[in-house]
Amino acid sequence: MTTLIKNGTIITATDTYRADILVKNGRVCEIGGEISKIANEIIDATGKWVLPGAVDAHTHLDVECDGMTTVDDFESATAAGAAGGTTTVIDYAEQVPGGTLAGALETWKEKAAGRSVVDYAFHIALSEVTPGILEEIPAMVAAGVTSFHARLDGWGERYIHDGRLLELLECARGAGAIVCLHAENGEIIRTYLGRLASEGKTSARYLPEARPPEVEAQATARAISIAEMARAPIYLSGISSAHAIEKVKAARDRGQVVYAETSPHFLVLASDRYEEPDGVKYTCIPPLRPSWHADVLWKAISSGDIHSVGSDHRAFHYAGQKDLGREDFTRAPRGFAGIQERVSLLHSAGVAAGRISPNRLVDLVSTSPAKIFGLFPRKGTLAVGSDADMILFDPAAEVTLSKATSLSRSDYTPYEGMNLRGTPWMVLQRGKVIARENKVHGRAGQGEFLPAARFKVP
Ligand SMILES: [Zn+2]
Repeated sequence: MTTLIKNGTIITATDTYRADILVKNGRVCEIGGEISKIANEIIDATGKWVLPGAVDAHTHLDVECDGMTTVDDFESATAAGAAGGTTTVIDYAEQVPGGTLAGALETWKEKAAGRSVVDYAFHIALSEVTPGILEEIPAMVAAGVTSFHARLDGWGERYIHDGRLLELLECARGAGAIVCLHAENGEIIRTYLGRLASEGKTSARYLPEARPPEVEAQATARAISIAEMARAPIYLSGISSAHAIEKVKAARDRGQVVYAETSPHFLVLASDRYEEPDGVKYTCIPPLRPSWHADVLWKAISSGDIHSVGSDHRAFHYAGQKDLGREDFTRAPRGFAGIQERVSLLHSAGVAAGRISPNRLVDLVSTSPAKIFGLFPRKGTLAVGSDADMILFDPAAEVTLSKATSLSRSDYTPYEGMNLRGTPWMVLQRGKVIARENKVHGRAGQGEFLPAARFKVP
C-alpha cells in the first residue's frame, strides 16, 4: 500500500520546505522535490502545511477522578484528538493506592486496546512512593513505560516527603526513566482550603485563592532542587504561572535538565472565567490565572523554557458533574476537554498571532514530547523511516469552536465561541486517513501501544 502526498509545504521542528512524501506500508519511504512514482492513493496538498502528527503527552482518559468517571474513554477522546491532528497520546495510567505498577499498566492497556483510534503510550501515575513501588520501576521501563508521574499537591498521608522524592528521582534516573511532577504544595493548599471553607468562600471564584501562584512556585522550586541533588531530569507538567516559570528558567540557566509543560487553557483562558455564573465549568488544577501570566508563558515558549504543550484532557459533563460544584468548587471534578482543540488553539494564538514560528508549533505539540518520552524518531518528525503520521494543515481556514464542532462526549466546551485561524484539513496515521475536515475516518482499536525508549537528554 503506497500513498503519495504532493505539493505540500513540509514543516518540521527545524525546517520548512516544499516537497512530496511517499508513504509505503505506513512509513515515510521517500521525501523529494517532485516524486512522480505511481501510488495507490495520491493526495494533493497544494496550499497545505504537512506537519508531523501531534503527540499529546498529557491526557486522562477513562478514569475515576474526585468520585466521578470521565465522560471520554479511549474511543471518544482519541477520535476527537484525531480530528484535531493528534496521532499519539501518552495517557496517565493510574496506580491504585496499595496496588502495583504492573497492575496499572495492565488495566490501562485493557482500556486502550480495541478502543484507541490513535497510537498510545503511558506514563504511570504513582499514588504513593514506597520501597515496593521503587522496586517495580526497572520492570516497567523494560515493559516500555519510561516516565512516572507524582503529585506534590497531596496532603496528610498523600504528601510526598523530600527523602522519598529524592529516592524516586534517583531510582528513575538509574532505570533510564524520567519523573513528571505536578508541582503545587498540598499542605499549604489544605490550609487555604480550610480557611476559605470557614469563611464560606466556596464558589469557583475562590479556587485561585486556594491554589495561588506562590504555592506552585514553592513546589516547583522544591522539585527542581531535589532533582538537582538526585542529578535526575524532571518534567514539570501543567505549569500555569509566571512565578513557577521563573524557577524553571533559573534552573535551566544553570544547566539543569528541567522540562516544562503548559496547557492551552493557560495560554488562552484566564481566571476571570471563574466570575461567570457557570464559572465552575472552568475549574482545573492548577487553576486559570490572571491573563498577564499567559504573556509570561508565551515568552517562555519563545525562549525555549517551555518545551511541550499537553491538553490535560479530563472531560466531564457540566450537567450532573461539574455543576455539583456550583456552591462548593471542591465537589466539582477537576478538568475539562481539550484534546481536539490543542493544535488549532496553539496555531491561532501562537503562529497566526505572530508569537511563534510554525516550526516552534511543531516542536511544542509533537517533536519535543516525542523526544522527551522516548518515541522519537518513530513519532514527532517527518523523516525517511518515521511512521507516516501527518497533519495536512490549512493555516488560512477560519473556524469557530463550539459544542457543535467538538467531538468529546462532554456536554460543553470551555472554548465555546472562540474564533480560530488555521485547522487540520486531513490527518493521517501510518499512511491512512483517520480524519478529514473534522470527520473521523479512523476505527476504534486501530491505535497501537508504543513502548517508549529509555530517557536520554535530547
Ligand atoms: Zn493532568
